[in-house]
Amino acid sequence: MRSRSQYLREMGLTPWTLSGATRVVASQHVETVSSDIESLEKVPPSGWASLQQQVGNCMRCSLHTTRKTTVFGEGDPKADWLLVGEAPGAEEDRQGLPFVGRAGQLLNRMLFSAHLARDEVFVANVLKCRPPDNRDPFGEEVGTCESFLHQQVKFIQPKIILAMGRFAAQALLRADQTIGQLRGRVHRYPACDIPLVVTYHPAYLLRSPQAKAKTWEDLVLALTEFQRVTNSENG
Ligand code: SF4
Repeated sequence: MRSRSQYLREMGLTPWTLSGATRVVASQHVETVSSDIESLEKVPPSGWASLQQQVGNCMRCSLHTTRKTTVFGEGDPKADWLLVGEAPGAEEDRQGLPFVGRAGQLLNRMLFSAHLARDEVFVANVLKCRPPDNRDPFGEEVGTCESFLHQQVKFIQPKIILAMGRFAAQALLRADQTIGQLRGRVHRYPACDIPLVVTYHPAYLLRSPQAKAKTWEDLVLALTEFQRVTNSENG
């Protein structure tokens, strides 16, 4: 089995260290985005099962007619890390699980390199049903489905959110900027104080491997912010 350093070297990247990461974050601008998302009060434990049931039965948009199954998300519902992608692909649609295809394998390797296990994060998508032929989601589909994601954030209350790809970043931040404009700094999830870092979607990295170095920079930024939050909580 390859080591974390080997994975990173294969991608032409430098292993993460706290001292190096601190330098990265010191130059970043921390940005808060205003929003109309309601403030995040605690959701009772029963709320999670109820939310899963609502998603499983959802017919709010036309994607319910073409999906095989809904993809609610996977992982620890009390995870410190929430990773958000765009929508299920063909394999995710078949299995009902997020990020199980080639993009998921790449995501797992990136997590491994960052000393994060897949089962200690929660992974979800903005859309819970697959758009046919893997087309981009329509705005009305995102608008209809994204309330489920906001409910998930509300329940999980992670310490950090990694928004992977344009649709996740724009839905979570209520923004319309490009990935290039949004990455490279720490945002705040609207209506509460959860730090949010924007990066590329793993499926994009499969098509454009040259973007892996920038993705690693984003991951280092997220790791550093997570460490800062954890340290401040521990006094
Ligand atoms: S994509 Fe979202 S809103 Fe549309 S049917 Fe699936 S769960 Fe419901």
